Amino acid sequence: MLPVMLDSPTLETPLETAAAILRRTFGHAQFRGLQAEVIAEVLAGRHAMAVLPTGGGKSVCFQIPAMMRPGVGLVVSPLIALMADQVEGLVQSGVAAARLDSDATLDERSAIWRRLEAGEFDLLYLSPEGLMQPHTLDRLVRQNIALIAIDEAHCVSQWGHDFRPEYRMLGRLAQLFPGVPRLAVTATADARTREDIRAELQLEDSREFVASFARPELRLSAERKQGRSDARVIELVKARPNRSGVIYSGSRDGTDRLAEALKAQGVPAVAYHAGLDRKTRNERLMHFLNAEEAVMVATIAFGMGVDKPDVRYVIHADPPASMEAYWQEIGRAGRDGEPAEGITLYGSSDMAWAFRRIEGREVSDTVRQGQGRKVRQLYAMLDGMNCRAAAVRRYFGEEGVQVCGQCDLCLAPPESVDATTAAQKALAAAHRLGGRVGRGRLADHLLGKTKDPSQTEQALSTWGIGKELSPAAWRDLIDQLLFEGLLKEDPNDGRPLIGLGDGEAVRAVYRGERAVTLRKVEEIARPTRKRGKSEAQAAQAPEHHTLFDALRSWRRNTAAEQGVPPYVIFHDRTLGEIASFRPATLNDLAGIGGVGQAKLDHYGLAVLKVVREN
Ligand code: ADP
Ligand code: ZN
Repeated sequence: MLPVMLDSPTLETPLETAAAILRRTFGHAQFRGLQAEVIAEVLAGRHAMAVLPTGGGKSVCFQIPAMMRPGVGLVVSPLIALMADQVEGLVQSGVAAARLDSDATLDERSAIWRRLEAGEFDLLYLSPEGLMQPHTLDRLVRQNIALIAIDEAHCVSQWGHDFRPEYRMLGRLAQLFPGVPRLAVTATADARTREDIRAELQLEDSREFVASFARPELRLSAERKQGRSDARVIELVKARPNRSGVIYSGSRDGTDRLAEALKAQGVPAVAYHAGLDRKTRNERLMHFLNAEEAVMVATIAFGMGVDKPDVRYVIHADPPASMEAYWQEIGRAGRDGEPAEGITLYGSSDMAWAFRRIEGREVSDTVRQGQGRKVRQLYAMLDGMNCRAAAVRRYFGEEGVQVCGQCDLCLAPPESVDATTAAQKALAAAHRLGGRVGRGRLADHLLGKTKDPSQTEQALSTWGIGKELSPAAWRDLIDQLLFEGLLKEDPNDGRPLIGLGDGEAVRAVYRGERAVTLRKVEEIARPTRKRGKSEAQAAQAPEHHTLFDALRSWRRNTAAEQGVPPYVIFHDRTLGEIASFRPATLNDLAGIGGVGQAKLDHYGLAVLKVVREN
């Protein structure tokens, strides 16, 4: 409980001092997960690598040691937006922090240097290329440096999905700043990427802290697309009013189209992609960050460094590129630890497209095979039958993983039926038709319903052999066979044709050695929909609704006056706690998570007033 006397005469261990700073400055009662261990390592002056899930609280791992150790802590971060947020948050919490970036004017930069050289800062944020400029390094090596934190360290790895060549230069820091502890932090790194980080950043002998990839606040679900996904996305968004969400679309056009369609339905949506000019992109980003209710429809050009904590859902209108991308993109929801959702729409043609793209790349066969495997693993999870969260965590190398109990597959395990006989018919038909028809025609052929069939087609032994199934069931089955690689799609300039897939596997099905089970897709799509809605309603109507709303509107005004995003004042989670506990005194308020000393001093009385009046 507050207040904590930082300068108390009793002897504290460094970790106790760190815990006191966590309470006093950041307003959190105790360390979470591996935070304490990472901090202890850095405080002991050793290098470290920490892989903590998004929202796991990576920042305090370097912020607190930077505040405790003599000198300024350097933080390397890939994006200006990311730095701006963190620095703003720190300043709000009363920490002496600044950033040196290319946006600053010459005057601003020299002011920062003056203060830095006067030893005023605990933390300085820089981009990798900014830090590695000779004149910057020249000045910094003469300063007392507390530590160097490398945020989003996976950017150094070519193996990963966010490779940034500038990050490679950071390897030189080991020689430039001998004796300064370096801490690499990231949220997504499989074993291979971790190896790269160690090698590139010269952290070979340092300890590695890898937290669980569990994100218990995230409810995952995925659905096969039924035709174009727009209508379904609109439905999902409209079931989740008054909250912020991100929708990922696979193309710029798709992004613009969806944003327009949502706007037409009264949803405050904006589009974001690399085809927009920088100014428009920035405006839209700022709008999104500052709003409590905004829907960002974006390509993957949007994302890294967007730390908006109160994103309540991420919807993939088109599936992500890999499991890493999935976890990172979905992971942008619920960063404040409050319940959030990740919903992915996917189709067999998306998978086919992903494979085609890999085939077109000029890379070695080994790399191509590796990438193909990643695509397969992604779709195995998306179209799978077992817990999604567990599948992701196992993918990242976690052992002893339990099912999450809350994803769509845990809540409503899909019913499956044996469809081997039907599969044999479909494969035989695809074979007889010689890869010359699309999936609709293939189903029609099996049903014997093809419009204007040729004599030759009617003469085939597979003509009309599948009348026992509905057209929808045949389409599901054909999808299933595509997902399993038993059928293959040939793009044919946008009018895909269906042919036989992997020969060995097809023969195994013919011989009855391999079973095909069909997942009842319609059955699971419906409950997901209903759950989404009731969950949305539940979250909308807490008992403390009025007070929570009043606190939000106070926060909105306060943030607007200062020109900062609302969440740097207080997170939703903090406002939620205030609304349920209704603190009457500053002391009570200090006990709420996220209320540190500086925020208590600045906003305490105003918040208490809002509580009294509502
Ligand atoms: P990330 O690991 O994604 O960079 P952040 O450092 O931004 O995460 O922290 C995510 C959220 O968790 C923030 O709201 C932060 O205030 C909160 N947080 C960090 N450490 C703790 C803690 N020990 N207890 C409670 N909340 C914490
Ligand atoms: Zn689950």
